[in-house]
Amino acid sequence: MNTTTAPSTRTQVKRSANRGSHDPAVLHAIIDAAWVCHTAFTDEHGVHCIPMACWRLGDYLYIHGSNGSRMVRRLQEQDCCVTITHVDGLVLARSAFNHSMNYRSAVIYGRFETVDEAGKRPALEAFMEHLAPGRQGEVRPGNDKEYAATTVLRIALAEAACKTRSGPPEDDEEDLHLPAWAGVLPLREARGAPVADAGCGIAAPAYVQRWQD
Ligand SMILES: Cc1cc2nc3c(=O)[nH]c(=O)nc-3n(C[C@H](O)[C@H](O)[C@H](O)COP(=O)(O)OP(=O)(O)OC[C@H]3O[C@@H](n4cnc5c(N)ncnc54)[C@H](O)[C@@H]3O)c2cc1C
Repeated sequence: MNTTTAPSTRTQVKRSANRGSHDPAVLHAIIDAAWVCHTAFTDEHGVHCIPMACWRLGDYLYIHGSNGSRMVRRLQEQDCCVTITHVDGLVLARSAFNHSMNYRSAVIYGRFETVDEAGKRPALEAFMEHLAPGRQGEVRPGNDKEYAATTVLRIALAEAACKTRSGPPEDDEEDLHLPAWAGVLPLREARGAPVADAGCGIAAPAYVQRWQD
């Protein structure tokens, strides 16, 4: 399965098309930098858009949840739309109209499929690797009961669009003389100092020591 390269009817970016991309490398980078995706689906009560942890393996985005979850059940029986957004800055222009944001975002369409029993363990181990490289070998692995209670779903990255904006404000020529500060207020995710659990006497492993910015 190849990731998307050509847009479909619904992944053709029309508004500010110059910011659109269907490059798999761009899509992969946006997913790999994400902790969370938002998954939209419907049920008899209407449309829902639910945040959840995500990770990537090859040409698939993965999520997991309890077998009993409404969302997990719905996602197996209908198409959905998954989004990921990173906000990189507030773009302050000289006119109110031209304010913007710098961002990297992805929209993925398709249907989740259930990962079979053989694939579940490596998929969840890859999730742990995504969160904290090396940790899988330190923790108690999931037991049969825990794996049995968990559904792992994956969606092919076959129909997806990315949109990115970077750089300064794009003011109209006639506004450039206005006495308003213009520029970018960068935003980034910050990693705080690790907080050891009460009673944890284990020396911090490398991935904990490296955590803080
Ligand atoms: C952090 C952030 C803030 C934004 N704030 C605003 C705002 O305040 N007002 C506003 O109008 N727009 C905003 N946008 C842009 C917005 O996401 C849409 O791209 C834009 O509104 C056009 O939507 P559309 O459905 O009309 O686009 P179309 O070009 O018609 O969309 C066609 C297809 O392109 C793809 N696509 C569209 N947008 C995105 C995207 N952002 N990422 C990946 N694929 C996409 C989808 O597959 C979509 O079906 C923001 C984007 C981000 C990431």
